[in-house]
Amino acid sequence: MKKKTNKYNIFQKIIKKEIKSKIIYQNDNLTAFEDINPKAPIHILIIPNKKIKNINQINIENKNIIIEMIFIAVKIAKKKKIEKKGYRLVINCNKDGGQEIPYLHIHLLGGRKLGSIG
Ligand code: AMP
Repeated sequence: MKKKTNKYNIFQKIIKKEIKSKIIYQNDNLTAFEDINPKAPIHILIIPNKKIKNINQINIENKNIIIEMIFIAVKIAKKKKIEKKGYRLVINCNKDGGQEIPYLHIHLLGGRKLGSIG
């Protein structure tokens, strides 16, 4: 029987290329890929290759990954030529923060005027 992919390991499978996705950047530490359900013309997710459940799990040992994730998000924004018009980086955390996938990710959103947060 085919094993069902649940939301806990979907991003791990994307990293390992076990499920189809549009990976646009990958190195030893992180992976960036297109969101399957884009909320803007540009909607990219940046995730660490080593699983971290959410931003609450950032600690003294692993904190550098956040800097690298933001650095790559900005690099992608510049490559997509949206840095002048602007874009948004979002990290959702847990239920009230709207986090659906319990695997740390930064949303890079751009390519249109985004509404206010809330
Ligand atoms: P969040 O609500 O912050 O947890 O965001 C999770 C995001 O993951 C949503 O924007 C989904 O559209 C996206 N997503 C879920 N499954 C996939 C997938 N297989 N490939 C790409 N993006 C996905």
